[in-house]
Parts: sequence; structure tokens; C-alpha cells
Amino acid sequence: MQQQATETVDRSAMQVSDEVAIQITKMNKWFGSFHVLRDIDLTVHRGERIVIAGPSGSGKSTMIRCINRLEEHQAGKIVVDGTELGNDLKNIDKIRSEVGMVFQHFNLFPHLTILENCTLAPIWVRKVPKKEAEATAMHFLEKVKIPEQAHKYPGQLSGGQQQRVAIARSLCMKPRIMLFDEPTSALDPEMIKEVLDTMVSLAEEGMTMLCVTHEMGFAQAVANRVIFMDAGQIVEQNEPREFFNNPQHERTKLFLSQIL
Ligand code: ADP
Ligand code: MG
Repeated sequence: MQQQATETVDRSAMQVSDEVAIQITKMNKWFGSFHVLRDIDLTVHRGERIVIAGPSGSGKSTMIRCINRLEEHQAGKIVVDGTELGNDLKNIDKIRSEVGMVFQHFNLFPHLTILENCTLAPIWVRKVPKKEAEATAMHFLEKVKIPEQAHKYPGQLSGGQQQRVAIARSLCMKPRIMLFDEPTSALDPEMIKEVLDTMVSLAEEGMTMLCVTHEMGFAQAVANRVIFMDAGQIVEQNEPREFFNNPQHERTKLFLSQIL
């Protein structure tokens, strides 16, 4: 368990506003006949930092992938920043432009430099002039503390550095919401902290974040809410202190007894 982040977190900018960033209502999803998500209800306010926990196979990845339509839901409603996610491609594009996602595997383009990885989508999708895209990329590479790597290729970087590039690359699209799916799970222990520190600094700047992670130290330090999923349902949610000290459901207690 990673506890390092705890002492240094500055919560002053981590205000949760009344504004709704994501509204999920009675959302259901099937893979063929397998009912993977059941009646998911979730309201995320701007500025929230939500950690999603739960056993493997409980539907955590599928749920957050539905939020930017990497997976399609079949029933219920998902509204992101006031735009409903359905088959309308314009809405999907709009939502994807506001929602950044970072995966367990960094998915950088191996044949492009770090800088090119960060400028590709801004230049080709957003039509940002190259010079401006490069300046933005350098800004975010500085933020994740690896500007000196800009002209290297992903294969020349450590896993932790590659994941920080993936975060910088997402930020170059200026998202209002960031989704993280186990961003530190593929990393060696000594690299976990540098990625968590990057996520902490994003939280300190008020980013709305949903993070699937097993890093309960991060959850305790940064999250305002922890959501526990099991078998395709949100079983329980609470602010971190209550969630860890006073879990209500047997399944949550069992899960916590296994990971803490
Ligand atoms: P978690 O992220 O909590 O480990 P997932 O959302 O990845 O869980 O998966 C939930 C369930 O859905 C698992 O049983 C998994 O095997 C199944 N699943 C995930 N993706 C697919 C898919 N593309 N097709 C069929 N089943 C899938
Ligand atoms: Mg997963």
C-alpha cells in the first residue's frame, strides 16, 4: 500500500462544486448475454476525486470505459457536461474532447517521440498549429517533470516515465475530466510514487477525477469519495475515512480485509 502521498497533499483547491460533471442513471450493460453492469447510478460533481475499488471482474473498467464510449451501454443514461452519450457521433466527439483517459498500459506510439506523442492529437484532431501544440506539450511535460525526455522514444523511458507521458498527452487535449484505469498496476514499486505524485498534483489543481486503483493510500489522501463495486453493481460508497473505518456491507469488509 502506498502511503507516501498522504502528508504532502494540499486540499485547498480541491473544492467540489454544485455543478454536475457526470450523471449516470440506471445504466446497464451486457456483453452478449452476460449482464456486466447493473443499474449503475452515479453523480459526479465538478472537482470530485473518486476512487473506484472492487475485486477483479467487478466491472470497474467497463463502467469508466462507458463514460467516454469505449464501451457502449444498452440501457439507462450517461450525461457528461450536459451532453447525453448515445449514438450521436457529434455528442461522442464532444464528450471525448472533454474526457481524458489513462490506462494501465500506457499505449504510447512507439515510433513517435515523446513530444510527437503529445502533439499528434492536438495537431490532427484539434487543428492546433504545430508550434502552439509543441509549447503546450512542453508545458505539460514540465508539469509531469520530464521535459528533458521530449525528444526520446517511449522505449527509452522507464514505465513510470511513460505513464507520466501518457498523463501529459491526455492533458494536452485540455480535458475537464480525467479517467484513470489502474494507472500504476503495471509499474514496478519504485515507479508507483512518481505517477501517484503526478495524479496528486492534478487533484490539487481541482481536476475532476475518477480513478480505478488499488492504491488505498492514494484513496485516503486524495479522494473525496470511494466507490466499491462488486458483480457489476455499486455496492457501497462513502468518504474515505468512513469507507475504510466503517464499511457497511459484508462484501466491502471482505474486500478490505484482503487488500489492507
Ligand atoms: P474490472 O475492471 O473490475 O476487473 P471489467 O470491467 O474489466 O472488470 O470486466 C467485468 C466483467 O466483464 C468480467 O467478467 C470480464 O471478463 C467481462 N468482460 C470485460 N470485457 C469484456 C468483453 N469485451 N467481452 C466480454 N466480456 C468482457
Ligand atoms: Mg479493470
